[in-house]
Order: sequence, then C-alpha cells, then structure tokens
Amino acid sequence: MAKPLLAGNWKMHGTATSAAKLASEIAEISGENPEIIVFPSFVSIPGVVSALSGRKNVAVGAQNLSHYSDGAYTGEISGQMLAELGCTYVLVGHSERRTYNAESNELVAEKFSAAQKSGLTPILCVGETFQQRQDKIQLQVIKAQITAVIEKVGLQSVCDAIIAYEPVWAVGTGETATPDQAQQVHSYIRAELGDKGVDTQLLYGGSINADNAADLFTQPDIDGGLVGGASLEAEHFNNIVQQLIERK
Ligand code: PEP
Repeated sequence: MAKPLLAGNWKMHGTATSAAKLASEIAEISGENPEIIVFPSFVSIPGVVSALSGRKNVAVGAQNLSHYSDGAYTGEISGQMLAELGCTYVLVGHSERRTYNAESNELVAEKFSAAQKSGLTPILCVGETFQQRQDKIQLQVIKAQITAVIEKVGLQSVCDAIIAYEPVWAVGTGETATPDQAQQVHSYIRAELGDKGVDTQLLYGGSINADNAADLFTQPDIDGGLVGGASLEAEHFNNIVQQLIERK
C-alpha cells in the first residue's frame, strides 16, 4: 500500500525570507508521519533547505527543471543543480506549465527522464481541462499524458515516481473534484500501472483545503494531496496534514 504524502506547491508566492520562515513553521508543527514535501520557488530553495536542516520530516522539491542536463540554455536550471542544492523531488507537467509554457506530453516526458537521471523523484502532474471533462474524454487525456512518459522511461520508472491527478479546472479555482470524480480517475491510473503500481503514491490536487480534504483522503486510491493555495499558511497546511494522518 502506498504511503501517505502531502506536498505543498508554493508557486511564485513569497520571497526567500518568507519561504524559509514558512518552511520552519511547517517543520515545527508537522509530525513524522505522513511524508511532507514543500516546493518553493527556485531562488528560495537554499534558504528553505537551510531552514529545514536537521529536520527529517519535510523534504524539498523544485517546481520545474530543464530537460537538458547541461549547456548553453540561458535561464534554465538542471536536475543536477537542484539535487546539489538539496532537492529530492521535482514537479513535472504541472498544468500551469502545460498551459502558460506550452509544455507538451513529450517535453514533460523528457523532463521526467532528466529528473530521474539526476536522482530526483518526479511528481508527474496529469489532468484534463473543463472542456475535456465536458466532452467525457478525461480518461483518454490522462492516459495519453502518462503513456508519453511510459514510452520514454518505461513502466517501472513511472511506478517508482509519484503521480498527481490535478484536474485543470480545479487548480487554483476554488472548485474541487468530488471524492467520487477523483477516485474514478485515481483507480483508472492505478489500473493502468498494473501490478507494478500497487505502491505508487497517487496524489489528488485542485483546491484542496481544510474543509474538503478529509472526504478526498478517505478514497482508497488517493494517497495524499498536492496543495497549492492552502499550503501557504502553516496552520492551514498542518490542518490538512492532520486530516491525512487521521483518515479512515
Ligand atoms: C497546485 O498548484 O498544484 C494546486 C493544486 O493548487 P491549488 O491547491 O491552489 O488548487
């Protein structure tokens, strides 16, 4: 069975100073269980790593990486650079990057591969738009997003990573998938992964907050969450952590 995990995506919020403070507050109030990962902006990573030094309960990840390992790519950041700073995880294919930076399934697969080659664990974000759900093609969309990565790195490597189902219409909108809608997609992903994916952590993301988290976390194939807005305040985030710990 997959271990419970809660991840906080801080997006482009705060500064290096406020990010280090938030990281210390989260480490202070969060117990050993479940696993917690925070995703600060690139420039806040060193301060957050330093604020968390000596604390084993919170890991640090990056929100993006280059698909190149090295070279003349101005403004890009490689997996190796992130690993050297103390990151152990990286988001790939977040819907905001797919939308605003035109990241295709193929590019996301390249990034996934680059992350694993650098020793980082990727969290592969997948999810359908509102229109795709209206058209009832959400499962096909998600299958295509995952298949592109499987074709690049193989099924085992995908199962060794983490997958976050984040319906685009729920990310940052205040609208959440119902527990049934989320479970339907999670069980589909689990089935697609087959026997190798029994322990793969499948997270739900999309406007999780303290009021809706408990119902989502009781679903059998939801192993935790990827939280955006509600991860920016330690007390709120910890409330969601507690709901994951106490889930039935
Ligand atoms: C996210 O950024 O991955 C996310 C799910 O954001 P929010 O919780 O704000 O919808």
